[in-house]
Amino acid sequence: MSDCIFCKIVAGEIPAKIVFQNDYVTAFHDINPVAPMHILVVPNQHVDDIRDPRAMEGDVLKEMFRAANEVAQQAGVAESGYRLLINYGPDANLVVPHLHLHVIGGRPLGPMVAR
Ligand code: AMP
Ligand code: ZN
Repeated sequence: MSDCIFCKIVAGEIPAKIVFQNDYVTAFHDINPVAPMHILVVPNQHVDDIRDPRAMEGDVLKEMFRAANEVAQQAGVAESGYRLLINYGPDANLVVPHLHLHVIGGRPLGPMVAR
């Protein structure tokens, strides 16, 4: 998608701190980190979001989660732990319409608190 910001990062057309890239996915630092480690893993092929049927094709999701574990290992949080998160829709505050998996860690993240 020509006007998609994450497609442009995958293609190297706009800068990002890329930490991992293979044939399937690209991982880069979130521009507005919520923790000492906050990395986004995106499929190289454009997928709108987790409800896009393309998300369930082939090995897209498997490769995203595999890469998430890899970048967490690289970042040194494999032992201390990390949170994997995918937002969808307005209640979850999805902002960028290219599927992405947040990999968040490097500090105690606390429990998922009921409200
Ligand atoms: P979401 O709310 O799940 O759509 O999250 C989108 C994430 O993308 C946010 O955490 C933003 O900080 C991050 N973000 C937006 N633009 C960029 C960019 N150019 N490079 C890196 N991260 C970005
Ligand atoms: Zn895209």
